[in-house]
Amino acid sequence: MAGKMRVALVGIGKIAVDQHVPALDASPDLTLACTVSRKGEVEGVEAFTDLGAMLAARPDVQIVSLALPPVPRFAYAEAALLAGRHVMLEKPPGATLAEVHALQSLARERGLTLYATWHSRMAQAVAPAKAWLAGKTVTRAHITWREDVRKWHPGQDWVFEPGGMGVFDPGINALSILTEILPSPVHLVSADLEFPGNRQTPIGARLTFSGGVTADFDWRQQGPQTWDIEVETPEGRLALRMGGNVLEIDGVPVSGEASIMGEYPALYARMAALVRAGESEVDLAPMVHVADALTLGRRVVVEDFHF
Ligand code: NAP
Repeated sequence: MAGKMRVALVGIGKIAVDQHVPALDASPDLTLACTVSRKGEVEGVEAFTDLGAMLAARPDVQIVSLALPPVPRFAYAEAALLAGRHVMLEKPPGATLAEVHALQSLARERGLTLYATWHSRMAQAVAPAKAWLAGKTVTRAHITWREDVRKWHPGQDWVFEPGGMGVFDPGINALSILTEILPSPVHLVSADLEFPGNRQTPIGARLTFSGGVTADFDWRQQGPQTWDIEVETPEGRLALRMGGNVLEIDGVPVSGEASIMGEYPALYARMAALVRAGESEVDLAPMVHVADALTLGRRVVVEDFHF
């Protein structure tokens, strides 16, 4: 353990167990020192139920990693920064843009690292796709992000509460890739948002951006799940499949494999590098598109949704 930076993982739920804990266990830079969760624990790791108690008891913890849903996250992030700890945020980085700006200011004032992670940007084929598109003109692009909310968010009512973002919770992953790989930025021009009659956030969204870019997000997909981005240029067609993990050029697979298991190790390696360099990384471009869709979108009421 000597030399590894100590991390407190907050919010021991689905993504903490599926991805954060294995990534920290395998990290050459970081070690999981303790957890903070009202109900969850990780076997063999010191567990706290309250963030303040952890911050007081463990001054040796340098990094607080927040795997909570977006709405409660700000108060935790603020408290950790005020206690002098570096902070890593799950995506989306907050419930509002303004609260993330406030965290950026606080981290800057205190000389601490704030890292707003986008796990899908660490998918294997994203960097090669960005390199292939560099300097090219995009004539058309389409995102198809259709998955089953019952499979990926079983019983998680917060996704349908205000601030839970609904289908934009996965859709923002696609937008994090789009904003990374496109050679020129685009902006939203219209959106249709489908709200179940009994819910506060959309279950489906159809988006139109400038530059011929469109997106289809849906949380009612059963059977095979689809996480594709297709981009046309005068030099050929690029497709990112499996959430950015497989790259095709003109229909031929050229790199990557259908696995997301490299994404969280890459996020923690990046966090370690940012802390060592004394830097922060907060890119809110994907969240700006979601905020714009929720500002500009036409509301369509659809069938009630129950888990
Ligand atoms: P989750 O399992 O519903 O929640 C994570 C944990 O947060 C819960 O176990 C809960 O722990 C704590 N929590 C929930 N509401 C809270 C509140 N109001 N106050 C304090 N703590 C609260 O959610 P998740 O699926 O892991 O998602 C968490 C974040 O990861 C989200 O931002 C999501 O977008 C992102 N993410 C999720 C997935 C996925 O596949 N699910 C994939 C990538 C990223 P305690 O009750 O024990 O305190």
